[in-house]
Amino acid sequence: MKERTLGIIKPDGVARKLIGRVMERLEEAELRIVALKMIKLSKEQAKGFYKVHERKPFYESVTDFMSSGPCVVMVLEGKDAIEKYRTLMGATDHRKAAEGTIRRDFATDIEKNVVHGSDSKVTAEYEIGFFFSTLEIAG
Ligand code: GDP
Repeated sequence: MKERTLGIIKPDGVARKLIGRVMERLEEAELRIVALKMIKLSKEQAKGFYKVHERKPFYESVTDFMSSGPCVVMVLEGKDAIEKYRTLMGATDHRKAAEGTIRRDFATDIEKNVVHGSDSKVTAEYEIGFFFSTLEIAG
């Protein structure tokens, strides 16, 4: 089923010049980029985005990281896009991520793991709306 999901190339991925390599993998996997922009989150915006994690011990640290530099945010569309992109990303901890995944190949740390992807349909809808208006998403 055709779905949309929210993808982010996190500040470490942008700083390490991985934008092109990440996007190449998405396009090769038939995930169509239907919206795209570069933004720098404020600390407050990062806290809003990761609100589900507000009780976790890493909340302060991950929101500092996410607001430390520009991110590329994008809406990806394709068949089973949510699951497909999660598989391409690999596990949160790059040391546990499968061979050939983005995090296995590029991440340096459990926090600085290069990419974000929505984990469910409900999350995808919320996260797409967090960054994009319907006018900004190509049909
Ligand atoms: P994801 O869905 O795979 O991105 O993982 P989560 O939703 O569980 O966590 C959100 C983000 O918080 C991760 O992508 C990491 O950047 C960061 N994170 C997760 N677990 C840890 C942790 O144990 N320590 C730190 N410092 N950061 C973490």
